[in-house]
Amino acid sequence: MRVLGIETSCDETGVAIYDTDRGLLADALYSQVAMHAEYGGVVPELASRDHTRRLLPLIQQVLDEAGMARHELDAIAYTAGPGLVGALMVGASTAHGMARALNIPVLGVHHMEGHLMAPMLEEPSPAFPFVALLVSGGHTQLVEVQGLGRYRLLGESVDDAAGEAFDKAAKMLGLSYPGGPQVARLAEAGDPGRFRFPRPMTDRPGLDFSFSGLKTHTLTTLRGLEQAGKLDDQARADVAHAFEEAVVDTLVIKCRRALDDTGLKRLVMAGGVSANTRLRERLAHEAEKRSAQVYYPRGRFCTDNGAMIALAGALRLLAGERDEVGRMQAVPRWPMETLTAPAVS
Ligand code: ATP
Ligand code: MG
Ligand code: FE
Repeated sequence: MRVLGIETSCDETGVAIYDTDRGLLADALYSQVAMHAEYGGVVPELASRDHTRRLLPLIQQVLDEAGMARHELDAIAYTAGPGLVGALMVGASTAHGMARALNIPVLGVHHMEGHLMAPMLEEPSPAFPFVALLVSGGHTQLVEVQGLGRYRLLGESVDDAAGEAFDKAAKMLGLSYPGGPQVARLAEAGDPGRFRFPRPMTDRPGLDFSFSGLKTHTLTTLRGLEQAGKLDDQARADVAHAFEEAVVDTLVIKCRRALDDTGLKRLVMAGGVSANTRLRERLAHEAEKRSAQVYYPRGRFCTDNGAMIALAGALRLLAGERDEVGRMQAVPRWPMETLTAPAVS
């Protein structure tokens, strides 16, 4: 089955073609980051309009890349939520329109299920069951995954997501959006011994996270340095280092706990923050100690992309799931734990 995947939940237009026999045939991405940069964040109306401009040319581009004609597609998957409603509607209506014209099935996919399945685009692909750490711009969750649509939420952030914390710290450090990769780069030059930031909620049992205190701690530290006339490039790098270590250490501690609690030996990480090198190193080390395996997608499939939507959609479409004809879905808020396994799987 050859599935066209369409992702338009936020500020990235992602399109891909996934073949359930041959794997990924083509993928393309247009990021709106530069357009939103001057506003310091994503402007929903501008995002929708830009998806409208980019989507059809990107679809043509992946078809060309895969050497396929439109009528050779077997199905279409699109991100149905969560995300910005206007942005979601661009993908949903395009997917439904094309599916109607081509007379093929179409299915709305949960964005976080897409992130969760992204490591399965790689070799070796993780087998069920596993513990998943979903760390993105809007989510920080630990999930026990028994199979497609069989999710048990183990813990999540009670306030900011890890990626959001990286973005806010970046802003305080004078770096541009999205700040995760830039904070990570700056942290490399930091002196590990200078500051130690707190590891929120690690001193009590449980698998929930909190990152908003870390944001305040970063701000207070930077202000203190500024007032003392010591806020130079080295000090900024030292703060970035302390911040990154605190986030990474907190995530690692909770992952370790989740593996112990569930007794599982496979850890999957996905979402933008799973691109973080330091996090990957630390989790690899932890996994090795307990003869567990860690899986994550290649860098460009950590953040939003069409390939993960094509893959997650393909798995459900293969099991016979599809939207009703003419019933496009755009669901801005949609907890992943409400998903269920396909009836036939
Ligand atoms: P969600 O998927 O929860 O709706 P999103 O789609 O905006 O949110 P993603 O595209 O998965 O999130 O990830 C973007 C986030 O990942 C940003 O917050 C960005 O700063 C962060 N990020 C990307 N690369 C890195 C990195 N190397 N280190 C830390 N954070 C990173
Ligand atoms: Mg994004
Ligand atoms: Fe995302």
